[in-house]
Amino acid sequence: MRFHGTMNINRQGRLEIGGCDTVELAQRFGTPLYVLDERLFRQNCRDYYQSFTAEYGAGVVYAAKALLTLSVCRMIEEEGLGLDLVSGGELYTAVQAGFPMDRVYFHGNNKSPEEIRLALKSGVGRFVVDNIYELELLDYLSGESQLKAQIILRLTPGIEAHTHEYIKTGQIDSKFGLVIENGQAMAAIRRALSMENIVLNGLHCHIGSQIFELDSYNHCASVMMDFCAGVYNQTGWIARELDLGGGLGIYYSGGDRPPRVREYADNIMRVIDEKARLSGLATPRVIVEPGRSICGPAGTTLYTVGAIKEIPGIRTYVAVDGGMGDNPRPALYQARYEACLANKITQEPVQLVSVAGKCCESGDMLIWDIKLPCVEAGDVMAVSCTGAYNYAMSMNYNRLPRPAMVLVYDGLADLILERETYEDIIGRDRVPERLVKRDRQLKNIASAG
Ligand SMILES: *Cc1c(COP(=O)(O)O)cnc(C)c1O
Repeated sequence: MRFHGTMNINRQGRLEIGGCDTVELAQRFGTPLYVLDERLFRQNCRDYYQSFTAEYGAGVVYAAKALLTLSVCRMIEEEGLGLDLVSGGELYTAVQAGFPMDRVYFHGNNKSPEEIRLALKSGVGRFVVDNIYELELLDYLSGESQLKAQIILRLTPGIEAHTHEYIKTGQIDSKFGLVIENGQAMAAIRRALSMENIVLNGLHCHIGSQIFELDSYNHCASVMMDFCAGVYNQTGWIARELDLGGGLGIYYSGGDRPPRVREYADNIMRVIDEKARLSGLATPRVIVEPGRSICGPAGTTLYTVGAIKEIPGIRTYVAVDGGMGDNPRPALYQARYEACLANKITQEPVQLVSVAGKCCESGDMLIWDIKLPCVEAGDVMAVSCTGAYNYAMSMNYNRLPRPAMVLVYDGLADLILERETYEDIIGRDRVPERLVKRDRQLKNIASAG
């Protein structure tokens, strides 16, 4: 397993993160446990801030869907980034965290009237309008509240990024955005410009996630800038903002070679400046929306090993006390991860095993074929780079309670998300009177009489 951020081997020969012994974390907080490395999380924010904002005056808006809690909001605020939110629930989290709402970009391809009203009321900085239906609805609801909605329009640039089918978004056949090629985008711009309660500031696109080729971004920036020039020629409107979305890939396992944030920034900005020079239009303010590349490498999940099933000549299954409930990504899109035994980090790998979750699905496998030291029940397994889209996509399949999350920093470990309890699991169940047990019904009748 490759080490990230503050990962280290301590004097006891165990994996340490943020100066905390992970075996002790597992004992103290239980497993499965999400561990978030505060230094690395903040370092990743600063990398973006330095490369985009300090260097080019560009905006960095953290895509909260990758990982969002109240504490995460606080760190994002302190690091000077904005927030890209996609739902009423995410919006509510930011409001409750006291996040400066003018730094919020409100996304989503089917925002409900309630979500739009909440966003208007809380004063979000930008609505990222996805389609004509939303544009009309937003104009109407803004008028109702006597507000002007500040928007950018999400477009589909028609770019195929080299990534998994389910995390591509820039191609024409997508549920997101207004298509440039068939004229929908231009029509929406004209419509927006004619609206009384809408202020159109710029354009947005997002080509997908876990992208390694900077060329995809260059291509996208170039298509968007050409389109901006075309729009100016036809309407006289100038896009002052150009939001190029997120999606920069991260290292999960051997073979992944993500570009540096600095390279990503320099590449995009070079294309934009060049295109602006050619068209004679002012360079728009660029915005990027990284999610995974900020929180992904900062997260590690700790599990306790339980059942080990050896099928001689075929495979050894090592089962842990979590799985697709806390990390659905391998089951969803064959995501690959690395792991180690936190309590045997100095021991040589001697066996090839596959790591299984505990859900009733054969697809609930965290890692196929990984070399580990001799594995025994009770070992603490650490799976790295689980900060993005793990807790965010977690679920209660099999009624497993969701794990806790701790934030580690220089030897401190603070709970930022409590572990769910069995009471939480049944907390919203209701039993209609006719299903209440007969003896209890009789007792109720007796006590009422
Ligand atoms: C998901 C998403 C992002 C963030 O993607 P990452 O791969 O996590 O960086 C940014 N912008 C939009 C519109 C998205 O849908």
